[in-house]
Amino acid sequence: MARKRRRQPGSGGKPHPKTHGKGSRADRPGIPPVKPRRARAVPRPSPAAGDTPAPALADLRIGHGYDLHRLEPIAPAGPGRPLVIGGVRMESPAGPVAHSDGDVLYHALVDALLGALALPDIGQLFPNDAKENDGRDSADFVKAAVEAVRHAGYRVLNVDATVVLERPKLGPIKGEIRGNIAGLLGLAVERVNVKGKTHERVDAVGEGRAVEAHVVVLLAKV
Ligand SMILES: [Zn+2]
Repeated sequence: MARKRRRQPGSGGKPHPKTHGKGSRADRPGIPPVKPRRARAVPRPSPAAGDTPAPALADLRIGHGYDLHRLEPIAPAGPGRPLVIGGVRMESPAGPVAHSDGDVLYHALVDALLGALALPDIGQLFPNDAKENDGRDSADFVKAAVEAVRHAGYRVLNVDATVVLERPKLGPIKGEIRGNIAGLLGLAVERVNVKGKTHERVDAVGEGRAVEAHVVVLLAKV
């Protein structure tokens, strides 16, 4: 039995004048013709209030820092220290195994600052077998790194950080962490970014057995 074929919409026939026609923009209703423009100089962004003028590119230095700590049950149940990230204490049954307070974000921040200056890393400057670093507040390390930045004649322009932690969620304390970093670096909070991610339940971080942090900083010659 022969079937009568239905014509599908859009199959064959004349091209639609609006979509397939060869007419110019001016021929199409609703689309105004494009007027040729005279070339204009690109305006330079004006610095925001409180900002200093943009530095020359040659005076910029970028730094990257990374750190990871194993998470274990907190003492006395295990060898873990209380979980502190970016200077904020978090409620968690597991915490970092570390010689200092084990603040993974501050450690990555220190390495980013020192790295931008091509200085030795945090482990070389603050050995984990030195008695004075036992349980030490990692804000001390950040202060020392900031001092190194000043001493080298640089200032921090901005910080972008990522913490990878399965639990607890970083969201509720991100604002506090940004404030802490901004305070230590003498920056406006808008120049500090902190992101929280999980590791999708895979590998040690995703299984809640470790926490890690990545930090990028940009420095400019004063
Ligand atoms: Zn560390």
